[in-house]
Amino acid sequence: MTANGADRAPSDLVIVYHRQPYEEVEEDGETVLRENKSPNGIVPTLKSFFGRVNHAAWVAWKEAEDPADPGFERVIEIDDSYGSYSVSRLPLTAAQVRSFYHVTSKEAFWPILHSFKERYNYDPVDWPTFREVNWAFAEAAAAEAAEGAVVWVHDYNLWLVPGYLRQMRPDLRISFFHHTPFPSADMFNVLPWRREIVESLLACDVVGFHIPRFAANFVTVAQSLLEVEVLERATVSTEFTTDGTALSDRRAPVIIGHADRRIRVVAAPVGVDVGFIEKQAWAPETASGMADIRAELGQDTRLILSVGRTDYTKGGIEQLESYERVLTERPDLHGKLRLMHVSVSANRNMAAYEEVQSGIEQIAGRINGTFGSFEWQPVSLISSPIPFKNLVAYYRSAEIAWITPLADGMNLVCEEYVASRIDGDGVLVLSEFAGASVVLSAAVITNPFSHRSMDQALTSALDMPEEERRQRMKLLRGAVERNSVTAWADAQMAAFGGLGAG
Ligand code: UDP
Repeated sequence: MTANGADRAPSDLVIVYHRQPYEEVEEDGETVLRENKSPNGIVPTLKSFFGRVNHAAWVAWKEAEDPADPGFERVIEIDDSYGSYSVSRLPLTAAQVRSFYHVTSKEAFWPILHSFKERYNYDPVDWPTFREVNWAFAEAAAAEAAEGAVVWVHDYNLWLVPGYLRQMRPDLRISFFHHTPFPSADMFNVLPWRREIVESLLACDVVGFHIPRFAANFVTVAQSLLEVEVLERATVSTEFTTDGTALSDRRAPVIIGHADRRIRVVAAPVGVDVGFIEKQAWAPETASGMADIRAELGQDTRLILSVGRTDYTKGGIEQLESYERVLTERPDLHGKLRLMHVSVSANRNMAAYEEVQSGIEQIAGRINGTFGSFEWQPVSLISSPIPFKNLVAYYRSAEIAWITPLADGMNLVCEEYVASRIDGDGVLVLSEFAGASVVLSAAVITNPFSHRSMDQALTSALDMPEEERRQRMKLLRGAVERNSVTAWADAQMAAFGGLGAG
């Protein structure tokens, strides 16, 4: 990968995403840019769009001690395995990053998006800074975009970008994708800036979500605040309609009208790169990883795997409580199970996450103390991230993937588990409040707010006959394949109306 500050062409596609599209690492006291190690994840997926246009750009922030420093290279040209593209780096001070990202986005928006009103923290929000940072993102995108280009903005920390961009460049096609849930009006309207946010989103040509429910919620929020008309509704594909699960919908708005503009509202669940994961699952290093895991567990111990970020939305504490109840009720399982609970912290310095981490540690300690013995440890807690390649060996070794967030935009871990199961066995227990439950209805679906539902789901997974496990896994694998990241990319392309001059 090479980087330089050469002259650049205007871009037909501009991706606005808060993170830079490569890893910045320190080597011998110097900062070097390195292509992301694993092609798994959202950044490589977005970069794969670069191959579809003549020239593309990416806008992200980069921390700078002095944003006015003339030595700060604002725009660099990158050449890596995805082609050559510009990266426009917005210099932000540590204080700006803290305010717009850690405070406004994570303490005020995040709890509301995931329907945790009681965790919403308004007091430290500095709204002028949020506006200023979003304005700077919009300016940077406007500077890169060719006439009629597609500008694709990602996630709630950039909510005001579309509105500003529309003022600066009416010619652009603007698309916004939410990677999180989008709540109902009762919840969203807790935000005092609700009208400003929704007005900005209505400046888009396309507003995207994972599932029809989030799209429908957005439309009711918009209608609660502004004159917005639903111009077209569509029947949701039967693949995504499961009777009785919490996030399933039968009809969803697809085109809305506001102030003489038509806006497409798109629901397309992001998926995983099935080919890449399967290849990893077949790799000899995965087989040797599995052998190591088996040696560590012992021949007869059954592995249950739970993987997520340390976040109150992921329901780690509630899940461990369920495990504790099941072990209390089922002495026959003692000595036979190991729950590997991977809970990785993304924002160690935030009080809300520290609280979750210590809650998880406390209950895991209690479980091991109550039920464990010299020979048997019922829970292993892992707090440092497992490299994806090693994770695949765990996916393949786990009889059960136990994924029970209280709220989740999509959840890719459960799809990765399914894609890894090239042997056609394994049980997925999945929360009905993960967007993925709409796609993966053949999982054992559970309600993490109900003790009975949680405990029963786990025991029925443990007791499930092989034939049923294989039947369900076959359906799950079909669904993950049909809704892969490639299908998502194609749906996004169709929503843009193609790339190139508009
Ligand atoms: N992940 C990982 N190592 C870990 C834990 C997680 O590589 O130890 C990856 C996992 O493979 C998945 C991502 O982190 O691709 C988590 O994505 P998901 O959509 O499940 O949750 P998010 O953190 O985005 O809410």
